[in-house]
Amino acid sequence: MNIETKCLHSGYTPKNGEPRALPIYQSTTYTYDSTEHVGALFDLTAAGHMYSRISNPTVDAVEQKIAALEGGVGALCTTSGQAASLISILNIMGAGDHFISAATIYGGTINLFAVTLKKFGIEVTFVDPEASKEEIQAAFKDNTKAVFGETIANPAMCVFDIEKFATIAHKNNVPLIVDNTFATPILCRPFEFGADIVIHSTTKYMDGHAIQVGGVIVDSGNFDWTNGKFPEFTEPDSSYHGIIYTKSFGKAAYITKARVQMMRDLGCYPSATAAFYLNLGLETLPLRIKQHSANALKIAEFLQTQDKIEVVNYPGLKGNTYYELGQKYLPNGASGVVALTIKGGREAAVRFMDALTLSSIVVHVADIRTCVLHPASATHRQLSDEQLVAAGINPGLVRLSVGLENVDDIIEDLKKGIAAI
Ligand SMILES: *Cc1c(COP(=O)(O)O)cnc(C)c1O
Repeated sequence: MNIETKCLHSGYTPKNGEPRALPIYQSTTYTYDSTEHVGALFDLTAAGHMYSRISNPTVDAVEQKIAALEGGVGALCTTSGQAASLISILNIMGAGDHFISAATIYGGTINLFAVTLKKFGIEVTFVDPEASKEEIQAAFKDNTKAVFGETIANPAMCVFDIEKFATIAHKNNVPLIVDNTFATPILCRPFEFGADIVIHSTTKYMDGHAIQVGGVIVDSGNFDWTNGKFPEFTEPDSSYHGIIYTKSFGKAAYITKARVQMMRDLGCYPSATAAFYLNLGLETLPLRIKQHSANALKIAEFLQTQDKIEVVNYPGLKGNTYYELGQKYLPNGASGVVALTIKGGREAAVRFMDALTLSSIVVHVADIRTCVLHPASATHRQLSDEQLVAAGINPGLVRLSVGLENVDDIIEDLKKGIAAI
């Protein structure tokens, strides 16, 4: 199946007389014919659902769909993108471990990595994604266990060179984790460029309608966890009567461990209703993301002609710093997000935003309706000036999330903002 077809049909195939649409199995629990069967479920020797903190049939269908879209062996839904990032790391690391992340990532992920994971004893080193292979190599330590980056950085719109980072990670026998939120699997499938694990905030384009916070982790099944660096995968898990993940689950070792160990213990699994809404978003994702991208490119071209706008950062724009990388990783569109820097810094950015009438000020991105955010006074407020600059954020930066309105109407609205600067 092509990806548009997978968006509609993967994960749920009703049999004779069964509901055409994915049913909402709003149940915490499941019933069994024998105690023996329950025992087999707990031993992980029988397939089936135990309890809706670990799996649920509606969520399971959506997980299978997303795994198919990314080309992975399995997926695990979470209650937020933050929970997906957290579990993607905790599934591999513990106190005393270290990982490397591109500095150009979402502000919330920077906090999680630099502040909260530090309290867990996990240390991160942020690297400039444009650094040479040698400079990135120098950040590796004996206890380095993973490399992390974002396909399209929120909000700076830098394109992550997945192949470069995958090569360096694999040379050091560690996996590459990629946050593919802005690109979605319609525009880029990081596994095709060597990434091992993909995560998403499904809150963004996958949901697309600003109705549901969620996340997902997808496993490519390609990383070799038996290389000696990851004993948690190759030695018996005492919390699962001695199961060895690589032995029992082979290619699905990472995603199975994430579910039966991490999700069991951390408990951030979405409800069936949440998964149902996410599925509705996924069904139309290909149509939406292509139109978001087309509208955004027209708007980026318009903004570039305006002399009150200092910089327009959109990887689909010819002459953009990330145009070449964009052509490689995002040949079918670069999402609906355009980062623009307004001349005059913070104050000018605020004037621009406050004069808009169609575009709404929100703490969100990737909605079907056009919306704007000023990262320096909102999502990235807690970052120091140095961290702001390292994450590619100027105080005058406005993140414009181009919606699916008629593009001429959006441009008329932006003209009002520009006139107010
Ligand atoms: C929003 C976002 C997150 C966090 O996701 P939530 O669903 O808000 O928890 C992570 N990564 C990126 C790129 C995001 O845009």
